[in-house]
Amino acid sequence: MIPFLDLKKINAQYRNEIIEAMTKVLDSGWYILGNDTTKFEKDFATYCGTKHAIGVANGLDALVLILRAYKEMGKLKEGDHVIVPANTYIATILAILENKLVPVLTEPDLHTYNLCPKAVKTNYTDKVKAIMPVHLYGRLCDMEEINKFAKEKGLLVIEDSAQSQGAEFNEKKAGNLGDASGFSFYPGKNLGALGDAGAITTNDDELAKTVRVLRNYGSEVKYVNKYKGVNSRLDELQSAILNVKLKYLDTENEIRRKASEFLCANIKNDKITLPVLDSHRENNVWHVFPVRVEDRNKFMSHLEAKGVATLIHYPIPPHKQEALKDLNLSDNYPLTTQIHEQIVSLPMSPVITEEELAQIVSACNTY
Ligand SMILES: *Cc1c(COP(=O)(O)O)cnc(C)c1O
Repeated sequence: MIPFLDLKKINAQYRNEIIEAMTKVLDSGWYILGNDTTKFEKDFATYCGTKHAIGVANGLDALVLILRAYKEMGKLKEGDHVIVPANTYIATILAILENKLVPVLTEPDLHTYNLCPKAVKTNYTDKVKAIMPVHLYGRLCDMEEINKFAKEKGLLVIEDSAQSQGAEFNEKKAGNLGDASGFSFYPGKNLGALGDAGAITTNDDELAKTVRVLRNYGSEVKYVNKYKGVNSRLDELQSAILNVKLKYLDTENEIRRKASEFLCANIKNDKITLPVLDSHRENNVWHVFPVRVEDRNKFMSHLEAKGVATLIHYPIPPHKQEALKDLNLSDNYPLTTQIHEQIVSLPMSPVITEEELAQIVSACNTY
């Protein structure tokens, strides 16, 4: 069986380096906010091309803390509206709700699965103060159009880059394409830790300083608390592991690109809608390889019988989640609903082999 994602195999490539890095942390006697986190923050900012990177406990906290900091800075206030793709992973929406802001669910483009700039304009009202584009499945959103509109209306742009570490457009990377960005380093992401981890990137000095304080109990000077902060620190162990894995991110992303291009070139079946290849190939790091099929259950059973594991990202759209029932969201998101009914992800990873790719192609072409 070709596994959907073999994390053990991915991390085994760096086993010795990871063990050495973890041992150093063990022997240092310093486990929170030390040299490894400082190094990761510096190197990840350099990697993204931003002035700042601030490590936090996970990707959800990264998004929550960006919005919270903008509230503390007076740039957002309770009740402000935030445009967000209707087909995102629910974390983006939870970050908005956690801050008592109002999510404005907006339909994606059916070809890129990303926020549609036209729909953003349609959904804009003067209550909207921010846009949160999500670079879903590893593909960058149309940030030129989104930023142009945001500038025109004076809106904040907060990227959700949880699935797109390293994706690049016009020599700018995910995390450097808006006012601030949240990253997740959950083990299954393109840059994955061995536990929960996340970061915020920005070029804004005041925002960087505010999230740095908020993540550590709202305290800049020990035992002096400026804000009612939280404990959301990136720990030394995860930082040390990320310091090892960051070096290999570009190489791993390129393997994903080549594998995805191979699948796109060789899967030939009218019943399967392949992802659209972009002329700027750097703008996609293929966090997953999504296809659409009408009879998804049948397709997934066929692939399973041929030894190919699949997963659905995601089976239930946010507007149909029980957790969001109290928001009384409309049911009028036809594209989002269609995507959630038809989407299915094929195996994709930096350790996928040529034999596995050939087997996936053959399984798809015999469907
Ligand atoms: C993974 C993910 C998050 C949340 O990250 P965690 O580290 O799991 O909290 C947020 N947004 C998107 C789009 C994600 O894929």
